[in-house]
Amino acid sequence: MEKQLFIDGEMVKGAGNLRKLINPATEQEIVTVYEASVEQVELAIQSARLAFKETNWKNDKEGRAVFLMKLAGKLENNLETMAQLETENTGKPIRESRLDMEDSVSCLRYYADLLMEQFPEKMEQWDGSESVVKNVPYGVTGLIVPWNFPLLLGIWKIAPALAAGNTVVFKPSEMTPLSMIKLAELISECCLPKGVFNLVLGDGKTVGQTITLSEDVHKISFTGGTDTGRVINEQCAKTFKHVSLELGGKSPLIVFDDVNIEQAAEWAIFGAFFNQGEVCVASSRILVHENIFAAFTEKMAEKTKKIKLGDPFSEETDMGPLISNDHLKKVESYVSKGLEEGATLVTGGERYGEQGYYLTPVIFTDVQPDMGIVQEEIFGPFCVIQTFRSEDEAVEIANGTKYGLAAGILSKDAERAERVADQIDSGIIWINSYHTPFVNAPWGGFKQSGTGRELGPHGLAAYSQPKHLNATAVVGDLGWYRF
Ligand code: NAD
Repeated sequence: MEKQLFIDGEMVKGAGNLRKLINPATEQEIVTVYEASVEQVELAIQSARLAFKETNWKNDKEGRAVFLMKLAGKLENNLETMAQLETENTGKPIRESRLDMEDSVSCLRYYADLLMEQFPEKMEQWDGSESVVKNVPYGVTGLIVPWNFPLLLGIWKIAPALAAGNTVVFKPSEMTPLSMIKLAELISECCLPKGVFNLVLGDGKTVGQTITLSEDVHKISFTGGTDTGRVINEQCAKTFKHVSLELGGKSPLIVFDDVNIEQAAEWAIFGAFFNQGEVCVASSRILVHENIFAAFTEKMAEKTKKIKLGDPFSEETDMGPLISNDHLKKVESYVSKGLEEGATLVTGGERYGEQGYYLTPVIFTDVQPDMGIVQEEIFGPFCVIQTFRSEDEAVEIANGTKYGLAAGILSKDAERAERVADQIDSGIIWINSYHTPFVNAPWGGFKQSGTGRELGPHGLAAYSQPKHLNATAVVGDLGWYRF
């Protein structure tokens, strides 16, 4: 399969860099990817520009809804193939890849339905005129995603961007393009006007920057690291592009002393270690009331040691390998850093198996708020447990990083949980649960975790801008003026 790009309505072979993709569980080569040349990215942008200008896509609301439904059906019919590609490329357990695919199908259907509920807003004005506010698409959108949920995070952008009537130039992470290549093949079977959707593959510096710097791209939606988001924001400022940024996190899970310790430890493990901890909202800081700190830590460590690492294609596996050798080394370096900083390693931090980028899940205690392992996003199976004595102290610690993506609160006292949630600076807060994204509710961060929101009506609004038409009835030949 050499034709891996989708440009101007056709699958084509990339003329840029050659990249060998490695299966992180076996360290074996999966396939060679032919990435896009800069010229091909520019071609994709021009194709998207012409599709926006010359086809009826932006006006054809029903056609867009039909397309999204059709794609959802095709994805559903290919769910197992897609899940297997995702697992082979990322190393995530197959059960979790299947969930990603199911969520992707739901997201496509959700935006097809939501789109059909959208109508211009009308207002009678004080001078007798009428105002109509239409939400109109931006034009060409550049959509860029990371490697941890390659298809799902892509669909979170593609579905609302197309629903709103934009055209798309999409770039997955250079490490995980496989499921998106398959999606492009499915899209090519959907009779979409050519140029409406384009897939270009490659790294950030060549392919990504060509998109973010182009004058013909009017909106960028980016998910990735905070440092990359900063660079992209600066690049987009040059042409005053609209930008949505879904960035990193260091999310707290606050555990009060009225919880069932067994259940709380389960939630903490799920929050911190789901998807190998390679999740932007991972609860990498567990804040535990001092009354239950010892019992909770013991229980969490005991359960963490039982997490089953192994073949991500096995139904029994809880945790797969990290995405790459470089990333494994980065996460390992934080184990050394934690020890150097004087924290206590409770469990984990060892390599696992003969092959693959596996690391046993890490828990540190005895940490100080200013330590690197408490402040920096590590993005692996790595968490710290901190203690607090009062609600106020819990809130202060929870808000004590530059991030503000997500948080969790575990308590039987619903009033207290809501009171605490109201004081936490983050875009998503789960009370007595963790992690679930709901397709109809906003997802995104405060502070340096980003700007803008995905999912729900906010996610659709991110891909259109309001246009105000004010009309006065014509009286006689001249119309009617108030100036
Ligand atoms: P990354 O920032 O290195 O890369 C993300 C994407 O940006 C990749 O496709 C990359 O090729 C591209 N890119 C890099 N430099 C670019 C540039 N100058 N111009 C255009 N594109 C460029 O992130 P990553 O390592 O792939 O993913 C991990 C990060 O993503 C973590 O920080 C994580 O928190 C974040 N993330 C956030 C969310 C969220 O919803 N907030 C979700 C998932 C992941």
